Amino acid sequence: MNRDELLFSYLESETKRQNGGIELIASENFASKNVRALCGSILTNKYAEGFPGKRYYGGCVHIDEIENRAIELVTKLFGAKYACVQPHSGTQANMIAYYALLNTGDKILSLSLDEGGHLSHGSKVSFSSRYYNVDFYHLNKNGRIDYEALREKALEYRPNLILAGFSAYPFEIDYQKIKDVAKEVGAYFMVDMAHIAGLIAAGELDNPLKYADIVTSTTHKTLRGPRGGIVLTNNEEIIKKVNKACFPALQGGPLENIIGAKAECFYEALQPEYKEYIKQVKINTKACSDELTRLGDINSGTENHLFLLNTKKSFGVTGKDAQEKLEEIGITLNKNMLPNDDEKPSVTSGVRIGFAAVTTRGAIKEDAIEIARIIDGYLKNNIKKEDAISRVKTLTKSWKQIDEI
Ligand SMILES: *Cc1c(COP(=O)(O)O)cnc(C)c1O
Repeated sequence: MNRDELLFSYLESETKRQNGGIELIASENFASKNVRALCGSILTNKYAEGFPGKRYYGGCVHIDEIENRAIELVTKLFGAKYACVQPHSGTQANMIAYYALLNTGDKILSLSLDEGGHLSHGSKVSFSSRYYNVDFYHLNKNGRIDYEALREKALEYRPNLILAGFSAYPFEIDYQKIKDVAKEVGAYFMVDMAHIAGLIAAGELDNPLKYADIVTSTTHKTLRGPRGGIVLTNNEEIIKKVNKACFPALQGGPLENIIGAKAECFYEALQPEYKEYIKQVKINTKACSDELTRLGDINSGTENHLFLLNTKKSFGVTGKDAQEKLEEIGITLNKNMLPNDDEKPSVTSGVRIGFAAVTTRGAIKEDAIEIARIIDGYLKNNIKKEDAISRVKTLTKSWKQIDEI
């Protein structure tokens, strides 16, 4: 059969864009050949509603092997007793977790989107605020969680569930403190480790499974797998509710091609090279943040794979303008609200910068320092556009091309 050449020309262009640019979006990464092979495999042909050993369709014998392998590997990776590997995305994983543990109208206490939370944590425009009541705890003036104020808020609000784990939080999280509060008010403690799952898998950040009743994640961010979600727990009653919430309550047939790819990504994350990769991600992130600080640019600093750069204070431009200006020279990142930001979410006063993606391509500490100098120089108008573009090209040519990963 003919294929749609137009469509494949777009794919070609996107491949060029990914190879030719410096990808600093903190939630992105480059999946390996084997992960991508499973995503594009014949496993997409199979209907497998239900769970291994309990399917609604015949012919699931190998699908069961694959899904069981994914469960075996992910529970090993995170030291969890139980896992559901079917959620189609991080948002679906959160929806499943809420549905499993809460009734509509129950109360969630989380960090708002403006301060580093996620849409699915109770934002006005998300399902989560329509079906649940949500109130927020806040950051202190150093941009860290104010645990004392969180406790006071919880004592007053009496939530059914307290949620930690964020999209734009550059620091470690003190899970024990939040667990103690959850216990004190009789709430479930949920951690959404979507961003930091890779660092946790590599033992470079504390493991929330030691504290939380339920843990959700994406698989495509630092974990470097296919686009998808997971739910983990050590509680047998909770996993039963999670599986029922996943299917038949909220999803239909699982994406077994993606579940195969998840299994491969969990396997890869168990290898020693992956630990080295995550260590390098942390080194690169810190090197870039430190270099920007040395150059006089105001940023959050970092204890993980990302940091926030205040572009308004550093360069006199909004996050939106900084994002657009850097895109002209092949650097991709996203505008991001800063703690107590006075700009609108569509404008913002800063950007979020992460090193998971470029480190997969082979970026080293010196490259991260060079990236800081390009960003600083270009946003201060000290480097001409042609020179900035050529410095970006020098870096991207020295790295692995994305189909070799
Ligand atoms: C990215 C992210 C999600 C959602 O993931 P999707 O796959 O885009 O739905 C959920 N929670 C947090 C904290 C995230 O950073």
